[in-house]
Amino acid sequence: MCAVCKKRVYPMEGLIADKKKFHKSCFLCEHCKNKLSLGNFVSLHGHLYCQPHYKQLFKSKGNFEDGFVQGSQRELLATHTA
Ligand SMILES: [Zn+2]
Ligand SMILES: [Zn+2]
Repeated sequence: MCAVCKKRVYPMEGLIADKKKFHKSCFLCEHCKNKLSLGNFVSLHGHLYCQPHYKQLFKSKGNFEDGFVQGSQRELLATHTA
């Protein structure tokens, strides 16, 4: 079965990526719908993305390197109550 459309995949029209079968026509970036190649795709929780969009969509959410650090760098001000 195709992991995207759940229809049967015949060997001639399919490919295997991430241990799942796909129709060649279903092997698309979920974001831009461009066709993916086996050397240029990212599979995340069953969703497929091209590498540029994977980076664009998940870079900011997936780690704390961008954006987050700047906002959290507060100086701890000692309060002098003397
Ligand atoms: Zn399909
Ligand atoms: Zn894309």
